[in-house]
Amino acid sequence: MPQSIPEPEFDELYREIILDHYRNPRHREPLADPDVVAEGYNPLCGDEVEMGLTFENSRIKGLSCHGRGCSISQASGSMLTEAVIGKSVEEARRLIDLFTKMVTDPEEEPPAELGDLEALQGVAKFPVRVKCATLAWHTLGDGLNQREAGGHVAHHEE
Ligand code: ZN
Repeated sequence: MPQSIPEPEFDELYREIILDHYRNPRHREPLADPDVVAEGYNPLCGDEVEMGLTFENSRIKGLSCHGRGCSISQASGSMLTEAVIGKSVEEARRLIDLFTKMVTDPEEEPPAELGDLEALQGVAKFPVRVKCATLAWHTLGDGLNQREAGGHVAHHEE
């Protein structure tokens, strides 16, 4: 990582949550037969994520996320999977909006439905790291759009 990129300071509890997801990412194993594959890249930091999605009616049944990059980008992707699996597409889009608002506005009070994702709010004070936190979320949004467009692979660049 380039040295010019500042490292946010997180509260101890939040740091633990982020590092736990970074070291033990959830739902990392790619899905065998995804309906949609979405890939995201953040050239600012070099972060990459790849997601596979399966749907049942309008619900997200399966979701995998793996990649490489800084702890914020990878922890955010892991936390995303836990927040989004089993949700309807509409609810997932709402979470994308809420999360994006939270990490771009330091004054925003994190809504309760974001749960542990609150841990990432600290990046709001570091605009250069916001793209690390939002990469997985915007990639998910692209995946949902891609499904609606009837396509299969979505590419997202922050
Ligand atoms: Zn990053």
